[in-house]
Amino acid sequence: MSNTKKDKAANQLKEYKKLLQSKTSENVTESAGRPIGVHTASLSVGERGPLLMQDHQYMDIMAHFNQERIPERVVHAKGAGAFGYFEVTHDISKYTKASIFDTIGKKTPIGVRFSTVGGESGSADSARDPRGFAVKFYTQDGNWDLVGNNTPIFFIRDPILFPSFIHTQKRNPVTHLKDPDMFWDFISLRPETTHQVSFLFSDRGTPDGYRHMNGYGSHTFKMVNKDDQPVYCKFHFKTDQGIKNMNAEQAAQMSADDPDYSIRDLYNAIASGNFPSWTLKIQVMTFEQAEKFEFNPFDLTKIWPQKDYPLIPVGRMVLNLNPKNYFAEVEQIAFSPSHMIPGIEASPDKMLQGRLFSYPDTHRHRLGTNYLQIPVNCPFAAKVRNYIRDGPACVTDNQGGAPNYFPNSFNGPTDNPKNCISTANVTGDVKRYDTANEDNFAQVETFWSKVLSPSERTALVSNIAGHLKDASDFIQKRTVDNFSKVHPDFGKRLAELLEKHKQKANL
Ligand code: NDP
Repeated sequence: MSNTKKDKAANQLKEYKKLLQSKTSENVTESAGRPIGVHTASLSVGERGPLLMQDHQYMDIMAHFNQERIPERVVHAKGAGAFGYFEVTHDISKYTKASIFDTIGKKTPIGVRFSTVGGESGSADSARDPRGFAVKFYTQDGNWDLVGNNTPIFFIRDPILFPSFIHTQKRNPVTHLKDPDMFWDFISLRPETTHQVSFLFSDRGTPDGYRHMNGYGSHTFKMVNKDDQPVYCKFHFKTDQGIKNMNAEQAAQMSADDPDYSIRDLYNAIASGNFPSWTLKIQVMTFEQAEKFEFNPFDLTKIWPQKDYPLIPVGRMVLNLNPKNYFAEVEQIAFSPSHMIPGIEASPDKMLQGRLFSYPDTHRHRLGTNYLQIPVNCPFAAKVRNYIRDGPACVTDNQGGAPNYFPNSFNGPTDNPKNCISTANVTGDVKRYDTANEDNFAQVETFWSKVLSPSERTALVSNIAGHLKDASDFIQKRTVDNFSKVHPDFGKRLAELLEKHKQKANL
């Protein structure tokens, strides 16, 4: 932990003062620019009041203060952001025409936000939770957002379950407390969560800050090359700092000692010139391979095995700039999987399809209709020209005198078929397909038996038991049954530990 008077974050205000040393202080103003005479007293009749309606200086300060919070993100509320660049190191033009990848050595500016998922903005960022890993590439063809997590998979396969799932990770509507019954009830009733829950309760569920974890685009995407040939792909950011996690005790201790540890760690690393970086790799699957793949290749609870779909290096992402202002550049940064560029397209992944809608929808609620005009969200490397106009907080020239309808005869921007997405063929019966019972355990079995070391298996079982012990008995039993389907040992060891917790509680 580095919450000392010596670190860069602790000295931010002194640094600011140093920067301004040669300048004389500027006159403080009202929001409309009028210079202020006295900033520390309201306007009153006589020394003891009352105050005057004409004190527009007070009204300006107070009215703005009253409205200075915007809605907190409904998920991923606690986070840290930074800026930097992405540099291409390997040629992948045979897979994609995306201009960001067209030349080795090409650098593209990026904005990144890391976050926890379930906790509120003031919650501890060492808590057990997946970590959001969202990257905005400011490309010449518009912004491309890769909005993933520190895990290559997710809990569910159908986005219609998402609001319920998140409710179970948040607070009980009566007690306003986190509720282990809610959490494990949902998890055990929807066994497709087993893979991600096993990641979450391994020590990767409590990474040591944001620099020592991998990031994943998680979904299956499409890449399309200049000949309009598509392949499916997945994105992996491998940390160059090495994986480093906290164990459950360290994470709990850190949550108490420094609930902002992960924000502080990222800020201080960058401010000290210790720039974190990640290597971007992709996995590629042809359409023919997708037809034959043993699982649904668009199932977000599954990975693509690396021996069959090896990681292909692409480039490096470096974070070398802290935000100049947290609210402006981190609270307001708004990512969406729907922000794609030519050469990168959506796959049929139902979770991705659901997110294409929900992200811009929540941004319009949280930041307003014109959220893409906010400087940190604005696609500054491209030029936005279209027929979308007006709305609250329009802060551009609103495209001046250009026609606001299409088609038109007055040189408004035109479309070009070369920018169409690739042609896709879809057939099938229209109905609500239940995704609960696709294979939920095979890959978790590999994870348990082949990926985890003996000590990691012990930590996983102990971390699950330490949380599950507070759920009702029937929910514990159903959860144990699910883990037994992964591997009999997994279930048996979990049941034994839960029994020990029970005996301890009854002493
Ligand atoms: P590989 O042996 O090629 O890959 C195993 C992967 O597991 C590595 O990417 C490794 O990441 C990661 N890993 C190691 N420890 C943990 C942990 N505690 N929590 C999460 N991930 C961890 O095997 P396969 O590709 O055949 O996958 C086997 C299993 O590994 C899968 O069923 C899945 O459970 C898990 N996995 C697979 C990933 C993939 O994209 N194929 C990615 C992550 C996990 P690292 O290189 O950083 O150590």
